[in-house]
Amino acid sequence: MSNDVTERNGMLIVVSGASGTGKSTVCGKVRELLPELGFSVSCTTRNPRPGEQDGRDYYYISKDEFTSRIDRGEFVEYAEVFSNYYGTLKNEVIEKVKSGQDVFLDIDIQGALQIQAAAEKDELLKSCSEFIFIVPPSLSELEQRLRGRASDSEVQVKQRLEKAKHEISFWKKYDYVIINDDLEQAVTEMVSLIKALRLATKRMPEDRFNV
Ligand code: 5GP
Repeated sequence: MSNDVTERNGMLIVVSGASGTGKSTVCGKVRELLPELGFSVSCTTRNPRPGEQDGRDYYYISKDEFTSRIDRGEFVEYAEVFSNYYGTLKNEVIEKVKSGQDVFLDIDIQGALQIQAAAEKDELLKSCSEFIFIVPPSLSELEQRLRGRASDSEVQVKQRLEKAKHEISFWKKYDYVIINDDLEQAVTEMVSLIKALRLATKRMPEDRFNV
């Protein structure tokens, strides 16, 4: 039996949520509290926002470059979000997981569903992936939050609400749901969940506790 109590295979933690649920804030805080989590830097065709850095926040690439990378099979998943492409690179994820590191992916629902489909045919992905979904406490609360963004018109609020309703309908595709009613609590729940998932026997090497 090894003395290294942390010895195990890595996890791929995939987090999605409906628009307006505060997913980015929750994910950002979870990453601060669990700095050992590996982070996969995605490719995107959107422009960097002020303060963002190439190679840290995203790899900012052109549409042509993105298409070539699709053709070369470099992505585990990719999706079009708000008219831009976003994709997770295989080499950002697979090697880290194989070396025992947990990797955190904050991606949209289309991307998460692609990883689930890929996991059906890939033993490593199947055994390492865990899917977490963030939902708002209620639709009326979500509507209030969306209205809180003063920049949006009534039509935009209604459109965002309809989109969010559609997104929420995918909740059963995920393994775990976190309700973001209170930010602190949602963050604590996600951190606790990740810590608990690390204890799963299925991720430990077969001979981990052979005596
Ligand atoms: P933003 O442009 O605000 O950084 O991200 C917009 C949306 O794209 C977010 O919902 C984010 O989770 C999603 N996203 C970021 N990276 C990826 C990725 O690699 N793949 C997919 N499918 N979605 C992503």
